[in-house]
Amino acid sequence: MNFDRIPLSRRQLLKSAGLGMLAGTAVGSSGCSSQPKPAAPVGIVNKNGKRVLPWSNWSGNQSCQPSDRWVPRNEDQLLDAIRNASQNIRSVGSGHSFSGLVPTDQTLLSLARLRGIENVDPQAMEADVWAGTRLSQLGKKLWEHDMSMINLSDIDTQAFGGAVATSTHGTGKNLGSISTHMTQMRFANAAGDIVECSESNNSDLFYAGGNNLGALGILTKARIKTDKAYHLKEHSWMMSEEEGLARAAELRDQHRHYEMFALPHSDYMLGVAIDKVDPADIPAEEPANSGDAYEAFRTLSNVIDYLPFMRSWLVNFGASGVEPETRYGKSWEIFGNLRDILFNEMEYTVPAEVGPECLREVLATIKEKNIPVVFPIEARYVKGDDFWLSPFYKRDGFSISCHNFHDKDYKKYFAAIEPIFWKYDGRPHWGKIHTLGAKELAARYERFDDFLKVRQEMDPEGRFLNDHLKHTLGV
Ligand SMILES: Cc1cc2nc3c(=O)[nH]c(=O)nc-3n(C[C@H](O)[C@H](O)[C@H](O)COP(=O)(O)OP(=O)(O)OC[C@H]3O[C@@H](n4cnc5c(N)ncnc54)[C@H](O)[C@@H]3O)c2cc1C
Repeated sequence: MNFDRIPLSRRQLLKSAGLGMLAGTAVGSSGCSSQPKPAAPVGIVNKNGKRVLPWSNWSGNQSCQPSDRWVPRNEDQLLDAIRNASQNIRSVGSGHSFSGLVPTDQTLLSLARLRGIENVDPQAMEADVWAGTRLSQLGKKLWEHDMSMINLSDIDTQAFGGAVATSTHGTGKNLGSISTHMTQMRFANAAGDIVECSESNNSDLFYAGGNNLGALGILTKARIKTDKAYHLKEHSWMMSEEEGLARAAELRDQHRHYEMFALPHSDYMLGVAIDKVDPADIPAEEPANSGDAYEAFRTLSNVIDYLPFMRSWLVNFGASGVEPETRYGKSWEIFGNLRDILFNEMEYTVPAEVGPECLREVLATIKEKNIPVVFPIEARYVKGDDFWLSPFYKRDGFSISCHNFHDKDYKKYFAAIEPIFWKYDGRPHWGKIHTLGAKELAARYERFDDFLKVRQEMDPEGRFLNDHLKHTLGV
């Protein structure tokens, strides 16, 4: 979710809704987030006398107390540790998943020290990426070689290994998830051996590995295809909800990247189109840009808590005054955004052709059931791929993401919307909130059992599993 990019600035949205003063009264003098300060971590002293800190994810809806933490310095140290492990191991990237993929009371493993790129080939536009590399570091490092990632998600704080594990994606009719950029992968299995794979070598592991959930072993490194370094122009504008839904496919076809942000309880939708731009066409002076829409929605949401009967009027009035905006930058600067207002999220991908219809039903249901949410719903087109557990497996997708602020109740909201996604044959984002178990997931993924076979080969004793994976995979 990319609020920094939405030009619904605090200034624009609140001014046009006439809320500046009211926001201050309702939520305190800062007029912004009421996020509580996190408590200082305490941790435990484990049986080896080592103090081990607790873990929690980005939004705070997942947490655990591991009995050990590993951060190996290199691949050899990782393999040794796996060979000598006496308990289960869960890998963690940057903790940006909302589902229970990471929590463990056993060993938590981070590849934060296995990072960087090597074997860069600017001719072939390929490079090896260590799995602990943050996507933000990757963008900058590639730029030094006149290369850019082909596409990126809304934020770039994820570790490469974490992003690949859940088919993390951006948007674009002809652009697949980050996993589709990989040509080779290198895993450490439960025996502590390295197993390499590509489309032509160990292809089963390759097709299972592109959405591996951290269940097949530890991804240590991958070779990726890149694009030549490019700049982007991003244009955002407000339109009516009806126009947004009617023109979704047309706008998707016109732009390299196109996404929509539907505003619940309003008659409006924001379109965001991103295309490559020649640096010579970038104006010397950056156009005025508001940049802090997330704060506006946070404030709006707090105000509406006091004036729920005015919800629809306030959102409509605010949205109607929002002006179009344009932003330019290096590819990774435009894609990657800072996110400091916490939220929880559910995302399902439905077949591209029914996407707008499904989104229409989601928005209508929010209105009909009077669900108390103002957080925009993000909708993105993503190209189909061949990874067995990918939400985009063998079909182009339309991903619809519902959010609520981390300190607001998301459960009732998501429970009301999730059945709509099922009706449209939706597949959940594995890193976001959903309620499906193995039986329902197997029905959505025709290669589910093949994935389980590869998992069994890589990890016969289930040493890389946690409770969530046992439930979702049925093992
Ligand atoms: C603010 C925010 C914005 C987001 N935006 C997007 C978006 O635009 N598009 C999108 O698709 N998703 C998005 N997400 C979801 C996020 O990209 C995924 O959940 C992703 O998996 C998180 O990566 P991570 O590095 O934080 O991994 P974690 O959440 O720490 O772990 C995720 C999974 O990866 C596994 N893993 C981590 N490292 C390895 C490794 N080396 N080998 C094997 N397995 C490993 C873990 O075991 C776990 O199963 C967003 C999440 C947040 C919080």
